[in-house]
Amino acid sequence: MAECGIKEILTGNYVMEGAGVKLKRVFGFHDTSLTDPFLLFDHFGSKNPDDYIKGFPWHPHRGIETVTYMLNGRVEHGDSLGNKGVIGPGDVQWMTAGSGIVHQEMPEHAPDYLSGFQLWVNLPAENKMSVPKYRDISSENIPVYSADGIQAKVISGNFKGVAGASDDISGSPMYADISLTAGKDITIDIPDGYKAFCYLYKGSILTGFDKRSISSDAMIIFDMGPGVSVSAVDDSSFIFFAGRPLNEPVAWRGPIVMNTAEELDTAFNELSEGTFIKHRLK
Ligand code: MN
Repeated sequence: MAECGIKEILTGNYVMEGAGVKLKRVFGFHDTSLTDPFLLFDHFGSKNPDDYIKGFPWHPHRGIETVTYMLNGRVEHGDSLGNKGVIGPGDVQWMTAGSGIVHQEMPEHAPDYLSGFQLWVNLPAENKMSVPKYRDISSENIPVYSADGIQAKVISGNFKGVAGASDDISGSPMYADISLTAGKDITIDIPDGYKAFCYLYKGSILTGFDKRSISSDAMIIFDMGPGVSVSAVDDSSFIFFAGRPLNEPVAWRGPIVMNTAEELDTAFNELSEGTFIKHRLK
């Protein structure tokens, strides 16, 4: 099988977000054509609670989905749909903001360390004002593909015949947390027309048709193609995600991502006038 080459490798920068959370922004708030249909990928967490405890108090989103996946520690959340809960290690919150949601995401003090990821998936124009939807997927409900030295937690899409926990996501992206023991190789099929990404958060691998050597932490953005192969040099873990580019105009301000400047103005006017939320389900 022809293998994808590597288009770009990103290591990210530390930024302050929310009420004062120090996190690593791997990509986001720059030219979105490189990452389309994804907008942002943050790797958050620290051993030092001062870096995260102020959290992300009440804030809005519109026009996107946010996918939060926890590796360690816990984040308490609540939203304008009436959802409330805590996500812990291995849990996922896949939130479709659609026409608008206001939520908060507050990390709890972790005895050892907090670690997790947040991915923003852009919604196509036709779904930007859709009914917001919230999915809380607990670790034990995530299907796992296992083979000798290989473990893949399949959150969305399909990995070697294992269907993900979520099958109603706009654009059917693929999202999996994959671990390989040293010396193992895998090939991952990429659905036709999808762009693939790998965020290596542990270990070191060889990947791309030229078997490039990459160490954690690093985001690999692949060229379009039918498949990606990964060889683990050390015991390695990575988030693998892929999606079909939308190729639509992007108008982005803070937590709201629309297609035009007018739609952004509408959203911010509605926020100041108190008419932003269109659906309260509970
Ligand atoms: Mn948020």
